[in-house]
Amino acid sequence: MVYENPDGVRIGLEVHVQLNKLNTKLFCGCSTDYHDSEPNTHVCPVCMGLPGSLPVINEKAVEYAMKIGLALGCDIVEQTQFHRKNYYYPDLPKGFQTTQYDFPIAGEGKVVIEGEDGEREIGITRAHMEEDPGRLQHMGSIDKSKGTLINYNRSGMTLIEIVSEPDMRSPKEARRYLDKLRSILDYLDVFDGDREGAMRVDANVSVFMGERVEVKNISSFKGAERALLYEIMRQKNQIRRGGEITLETRHFDEARGVTLSMRTKETENDYRYFPEPDLVPMRVAGRVPDVAQTLPELPDAKRSRFLEQYEMSNMHAKALTSQIKVADFYEEVASRVNPKDAAVWVADILKGELNYRDLGIDAFSIDDIVEVIELVTGNKTTEQSGVEIIRAILDEGGKPQDIVQAKGLLKVEDDIVATAVEESVAENPEAVADYLAGKEKSLNFIVGKVMQKTRGRADAKEAREKVLAKINA
Ligand SMILES: [Zn+2]
Repeated sequence: MVYENPDGVRIGLEVHVQLNKLNTKLFCGCSTDYHDSEPNTHVCPVCMGLPGSLPVINEKAVEYAMKIGLALGCDIVEQTQFHRKNYYYPDLPKGFQTTQYDFPIAGEGKVVIEGEDGEREIGITRAHMEEDPGRLQHMGSIDKSKGTLINYNRSGMTLIEIVSEPDMRSPKEARRYLDKLRSILDYLDVFDGDREGAMRVDANVSVFMGERVEVKNISSFKGAERALLYEIMRQKNQIRRGGEITLETRHFDEARGVTLSMRTKETENDYRYFPEPDLVPMRVAGRVPDVAQTLPELPDAKRSRFLEQYEMSNMHAKALTSQIKVADFYEEVASRVNPKDAAVWVADILKGELNYRDLGIDAFSIDDIVEVIELVTGNKTTEQSGVEIIRAILDEGGKPQDIVQAKGLLKVEDDIVATAVEESVAENPEAVADYLAGKEKSLNFIVGKVMQKTRGRADAKEAREKVLAKINA
């Protein structure tokens, strides 16, 4: 199946990743741990942009940037340099943002995603380092706000801006790209993606090879998909009515789910880029081998290994490798029980129950899931009871053995099931006759009687087989 892309949609994304696992900011020693702090308490003359203050580059930040570049298959540049991007905005007290321009630390690369019609490479144009501005806090929706407050705690945090080619053809592909990017960054352990604003997205969207429109300030992945759906519809409608799409920047209003025109798009010339005189160019190429050594096994490689080593389905391999924590959890479980059972229980059952409760994998203990799997595969309890034990642990707490006892989930002995089958068949001759006359449903009725007699502790599948054997005997 080939995806035709009937509307000629082209989407490129610029993702700002905040490296919030660094201890200090990009150009000063201010702590990055400001999330529960009062506004404007994690600041100094450098990140406040006071005259005369001088930036000093954070070495670890450069290393993280290289790590990200390498993980995205980018070429690391020989020598990189910072520029000043001049513009005035209240969240940027210096009047310019220190960023990278024609020598970004990482050049072309690629990310493989699950596209509309199979695997698909999304080109990475570049990844560069820059500082985060402060934060404006509007009082309410941006166009109705009565006032705005400024918090500079965020000013000077390290950002990596990852720019993609306009290779995505639908909001769904954009979403998959973002998920994949997050997965890779998670593996690299360079940021905590759950923190507010850890990944921010700007999108370039065009339809029918027309002008592109930039949509800014998308703060969640779900928001990205919604903003893109809205923007594509808006552009198509505009063209249908005989209008034109002009190069412009729009703001996504998350609360209302619409994009609003902000300004005509500024061009590079408007920013008057020039080399940052307070920071010397950095020769980074020589550091590549050392940084490459610190790269972990990445999601695609782990998925291939899981497929081969544990002989699991592609679906399980994907589900188990998209988050590094889940992958580690699985491997620990698989080292203690049959890896195939572990895949089913972790990927299908446990993850489902956790997602339903909006919990992460660390909300469940490895010992407990191993015990549940052993209870089921050891025929001590049924699969359905295994699921019940997991739910009980999540909702009420407790240990598998105790729950089995307390809830009476131990599987009944075979001879009790056999007796129940015998009785159920003998007591319901009409149902047996109906079944033999072709009424499939009557079999369920008899199996239901067996379950009743064993108070639900028989394995339904086994009971069904036994009833069938009895009737056909
Ligand atoms: Zn500072």
